[in-house]
Amino acid sequence: MTHSGRGLHTGEPALATVRPAAPGAGIRFRRTDAEVDIPALPRYAGESGWGTVLSRDGVKIRTVEHVLAALHGAGIDNALVEVTGPEVPALDGSAFQWISQINRVGVREEPGAVPSVALGRTVQVASGDSRYWALPVSLSGQKGLRLTASIDFSHPHIGKQFACTEVTPGEFAREIAPARTFGLLEWREELAASGLGLGVDLGNTVVFGPDGPLTDERGAAGGLRFSNEPVRHKLLDLVGDLALVGARLQAHIVADKPGHRGNVELARRLRRAMTGEPEMAMDIGQVMRALPHRYPMLLVDRVLGMEAGKRIAALKNVTINEPFFGGHFPDHPIMPGVLIIEALAQCCGLLLMEGIDKPEDHVVYFVSVDGVKFRRPVVPGDQLYLEAELIQGRGTRGKLRAVATVEGRVVAEATIVGQIRKK
Ligand SMILES: [Zn+2]
Repeated sequence: MTHSGRGLHTGEPALATVRPAAPGAGIRFRRTDAEVDIPALPRYAGESGWGTVLSRDGVKIRTVEHVLAALHGAGIDNALVEVTGPEVPALDGSAFQWISQINRVGVREEPGAVPSVALGRTVQVASGDSRYWALPVSLSGQKGLRLTASIDFSHPHIGKQFACTEVTPGEFAREIAPARTFGLLEWREELAASGLGLGVDLGNTVVFGPDGPLTDERGAAGGLRFSNEPVRHKLLDLVGDLALVGARLQAHIVADKPGHRGNVELARRLRRAMTGEPEMAMDIGQVMRALPHRYPMLLVDRVLGMEAGKRIAALKNVTINEPFFGGHFPDHPIMPGVLIIEALAQCCGLLLMEGIDKPEDHVVYFVSVDGVKFRRPVVPGDQLYLEAELIQGRGTRGKLRAVATVEGRVVAEATIVGQIRKK
């Protein structure tokens, strides 16, 4: 089955063709113009902040989530998705056209075991504003995948929305697949600044202006397909991103303010829980081998996970015994903001140093720190969750977006450029 159109973010025309694949092959994408195959697995997945991107050997395929949702939602485990350009066509911004076509061509049942995995323990993921709880379903005896999502936008026409679904072909096709991509008119500039959203129009995105959804030439004003279409689209995106796990998951996933970054992280964690692949974590001994910092300036206690050349998540436990609380301030202890930035910078250093031969002979210097925002005070007893993601650069120099949160709330953020030098 084939669809053509423009990509939501690149605006580039492309043709996408979904072909059957052998049992056990999983879902793969192919960029036919670059002759590169990319399996739909977490290790190849990232996000642009606005969509899910698969990349391999420098070749990217953007906005894979809606066709993935259609396949996963329809119960398809093996398929090859050929794309002639850098992005899957946006179509109407939902999975509806893909699902209609799947229903027309049919799904073939293959003999053999379907890769089905019952989650054995709760997996929790926090990423930016997004929170996820993946719960085992063994107690309820229910089989399959159940998703619950909530969103909370200050926009009066969106507000707080909730939705819940069983991921079965019938329910997905009826309740989730038609829900379209949405955006706020006020995001226009931010999107344009990131060079994305070039293919966005009212035919593929519900755009909320001050008075509600802008009118599509084909539809009536406020023509939503569901009163809670935005949160349903979030479920659609989640189904697509969870296809990256590469198995039929039996679990109940509760997602608060889900986004692609968190979805992909959740898929990565669930895949690890499933395959037993070790997390690339570091204890304090390993942190001290990789960083030259020592008391009182070592501000990373533990690396929770790292993806070489991409991102890192780490922890700093803040206690009343921190030396700086003695003077900042004796009767009102607050962690100095510059030290939160230093903790983030140390995370960036760990990520940049990963893969460097003889890290002990090298040191990371910080070239610039921009866009620093302090949002909340950090006090004794807080656990600082430090996240950094490489947004530009390779090799010895890199630009990273770094965010520190406490209990899911952003306390500080910055864009940091670091450079590795020989000592
Ligand atoms: Zn989407």
